[in-house]
Amino acid sequence: MNNFVFYSPTKFVFGKDTEGQTGTLAKKYNARKVMIVYGGGSIIRSGLLQRIEESLQQAGVEYVKLGGIQPNPTDPKVYEGIELARKEGVDFMLPVGGGSVIDTAKAIAAGVPYEGDFWDFYIGKAKVKKALKVGVVLTIPAAGSEGSGNTVITKLEGLQKLSLRVPELLRPVFAVMNPELTYTLPPYQTACGIADMMVHIMERYFTNTPDVEISDRLCEGTLMTIIKEAYKVKQDPNDYEARANIMWCGTIAHNGTCGVGCEEDWASHFLEHEISAVYNVTHGAGLAVIVPAWMTFMAEHNPKKIAQFANRVFGVPENEDLEEMALAGVSRLKHFFRYIGLPVNFKELGIEHPDIELLVKKLHENKGEWVGNYVKLNKEYSKEIFELACK
Ligand code: NAP
Ligand code: FE
Repeated sequence: MNNFVFYSPTKFVFGKDTEGQTGTLAKKYNARKVMIVYGGGSIIRSGLLQRIEESLQQAGVEYVKLGGIQPNPTDPKVYEGIELARKEGVDFMLPVGGGSVIDTAKAIAAGVPYEGDFWDFYIGKAKVKKALKVGVVLTIPAAGSEGSGNTVITKLEGLQKLSLRVPELLRPVFAVMNPELTYTLPPYQTACGIADMMVHIMERYFTNTPDVEISDRLCEGTLMTIIKEAYKVKQDPNDYEARANIMWCGTIAHNGTCGVGCEEDWASHFLEHEISAVYNVTHGAGLAVIVPAWMTFMAEHNPKKIAQFANRVFGVPENEDLEEMALAGVSRLKHFFRYIGLPVNFKELGIEHPDIELLVKKLHENKGEWVGNYVKLNKEYSKEIFELACK
């Protein structure tokens, strides 16, 4: 196990009706004027926005609103938010929604006290030294942004989708998580969220770091829980216990609990970011296409952990031929993704002829000559994986 620092100060307030505590929580973290950030309207239709506003009013916390954040959020809304926050004297960000809304709020939080362009942080030109506090009301278990220090934004010019990780300043101070809020999710969004959280675990699990038994077992247990509960939610979208288990798994998947002491991979995410930047597909669906292709490639080049995953998570019998075991695991994973309604190749994702040259070019322009760690990918390898994703 490698040395590590693990810092996860988020206060998670989990369960039925917890959104009623939002105002009190914001007050506790000294919010005077918050910015409620939300998406395309699901929280208006469900009545959640009104409940959040009432909760803030009761706690005596002032607020302004910034709505209309789209999935795969882009920079114009961040600039709009920074300007609004400065004009209104906002001192606390309150995203109510999923990863897109939370990541936009984090970008605004970092951008408000910074004199330069917030994009400097994403391209590594500047470091975040100060940020407004962020508190979250989560409506979709997926990105894990409620417990992570990460934010992912797409710059429209050049369609550059980049992530930024600043755990000390961008981890939310609180996250309100009521599983009942997820009943209204369309089945496709539920499934995409499940794929995303599974891959957050797999990016950590597929490591060459030896002797990481505790992380391995946490990863396997969380993956098995997600799969089991996903079947239940597919049968009954209003199954509270299944929704609750999935919601908490989404946080565990990405708040750093899994993978401490491991060298993480993240190539699948970086490959996918190019797909969702260029074709604007849902991130989790893009991952359901890329990860089986990435694993198929790894079955040939470094099958050890893929075979272990196949055996321990999907019950593939042990076999001396690790590549065969690994490929059997890929096949079961694809079967699972298909069952919950996800695509597993480009065509099923709605992209008949992906521009692989462009995807490879952008990937290595953004991420350098080598991507990932489990097997480092050069242009030739990443091209091979994009091609496998066509099958
Ligand atoms: P999302 O993009 O925030 O939301 C997806 C869709 O779900 C939206 O159309 C939203 O509609 C809808 N929705 C959300 N909650 C709902 C509810 N309770 N009922 C009905 N509809 C609901 O989803 P996400 O998967 O959480 O976020 C994806 C983004 O996060 C991507 O950009 C991805 O790259 C990024 N990401 C970030 C991290 C990180 O650590 N920061 C990690 C992985 C991925 P409305 O807009 O109408 O609300
Ligand atoms: Fe993700």
